[in-house]
Amino acid sequence: MATKEKPKVGFIGLGIMGAPMSMNLLNAGFELVVWNRTASKMEPLLEAGAEAAGSPADAAARSEVVVSIVGDSPDVEQVALGENGVVDGIQAGGVYVDMSTISPAVTRRVAERLSAKGALMLDAPVSGGDIGAQAGTLSIMVGGPSEAFQKCLPLFEAMGKNIVHAGEENGLGQYVKLCNQTACVLNLLAMCESISLGAKAGLDLEKMLAAITKGAAGSWMLTNVAPKVLDGDWEPGFMIDLQQKDLRLVLEAAAELNLPLPGTALVNQLFRSVQAADMGKKGTQALIHALERLGHFKAAREE
Ligand code: NAP
Repeated sequence: MATKEKPKVGFIGLGIMGAPMSMNLLNAGFELVVWNRTASKMEPLLEAGAEAAGSPADAAARSEVVVSIVGDSPDVEQVALGENGVVDGIQAGGVYVDMSTISPAVTRRVAERLSAKGALMLDAPVSGGDIGAQAGTLSIMVGGPSEAFQKCLPLFEAMGKNIVHAGEENGLGQYVKLCNQTACVLNLLAMCESISLGAKAGLDLEKMLAAITKGAAGSWMLTNVAPKVLDGDWEPGFMIDLQQKDLRLVLEAAAELNLPLPGTALVNQLFRSVQAADMGKKGTQALIHALERLGHFKAAREE
């Protein structure tokens, strides 16, 4: 039974992130009605007790809070505002929570359209990847009215751990996520450049990392991702093609604010060179390949 603490939830988008996130909601006792463009992906949720919706509008009409996590800005516009979209089904007083990473400007446009129907919106992008989605330990960055945030907090607590309400305006959650991506890629470049210098100077790179990881240079990237570079492990934790989508959003948002972000623009171009070498599906640690080509060295241990 839906309660004040556990409103009935509509869930749109059962991809790498959405499937485990919606399963965590079910496991936490939320009543769920799900919709996915490719219907077969709904099966595991239906078997676990969710109901099936026929469209995003249907999912919205049958729930008090409707969540989406799809792809890019046009995908959110489609499920929210397109034919049989959320806006067509949502009830006055309902809440739409978009957890995709998209443009803050598009987020605000969608929120305005929902507001005309008497519904509220939250933008609530996440970080933590598929592992965080499965474990229910995502970081969730939320923009939008407090009233909606309070209503949705029990949902967020079932999907994540570090939940921050950035402020009352829509788009603020998306900006926080874009700040996160900016800091991540510059940490990644710092890690790759220090490995480049060490490799070119002929250092024992493991000793170099052991020496610098615990000091002022220490970072999540050095601790968790640098060892993958030395191992020549290019499997994606986070894929370059997806990171490039996020950097496009960062650079577009910065352009709208008339803000130069020279470091981020540089990483965006270096990643493009890795994509041009057909490695867009590799993990972001493959950024080292761009530096290896520029500097004529190899960072990974020889097999
Ligand atoms: P994904 O595995 O590709 O799943 C995307 C989902 O959205 C699928 O269910 C897909 O439906 C649906 N979808 C896409 N475009 C649609 C459209 N126009 N209309 C209807 N449904 C549509 O992607 P993901 O990795 O779960 O990522 C989802 C979002 O989370 C993205 O915004 C991404 O940036 C963000 N994110 C991802 C990660 C990560 O590590 N993967 C981490 C943080 C944030 P189909 O099944 O029909 O294709």
